[in-house]
Amino acid sequence: MDDMDRVQGVNEDFQEFALGLNRRTREPANYTGTECLDCEEEIPEDRRKAVPGCRRCISCQEEHELLSHWRTP
Ligand SMILES: [Zn+2]
Repeated sequence: MDDMDRVQGVNEDFQEFALGLNRRTREPANYTGTECLDCEEEIPEDRRKAVPGCRRCISCQEEHELLSHWRTP
C-alpha cells in the first residue's frame, strides 16, 4: 500500500512535469495561425512571408532553437 502511494505521487509529479514541458513545446503539425506559439503575439507578416510556415516570432524562435539544441544530446 505504501509503495502504491509512492508510485502515485511520482506519477503526479511526472504528469505535472510533462504538462509543463508540453505547454512549452506544443507544436501542432499543421499549424496555420498567425500567432507565435510561445508568446501568442502576432507574427509580423514580413516574417511569415520570409519564412513560410513559421510558428514563432523571431525571439521565441531563437529561444526555441537554443532549447532544442540543449535538449538534443
Ligand atoms: Zn513569440
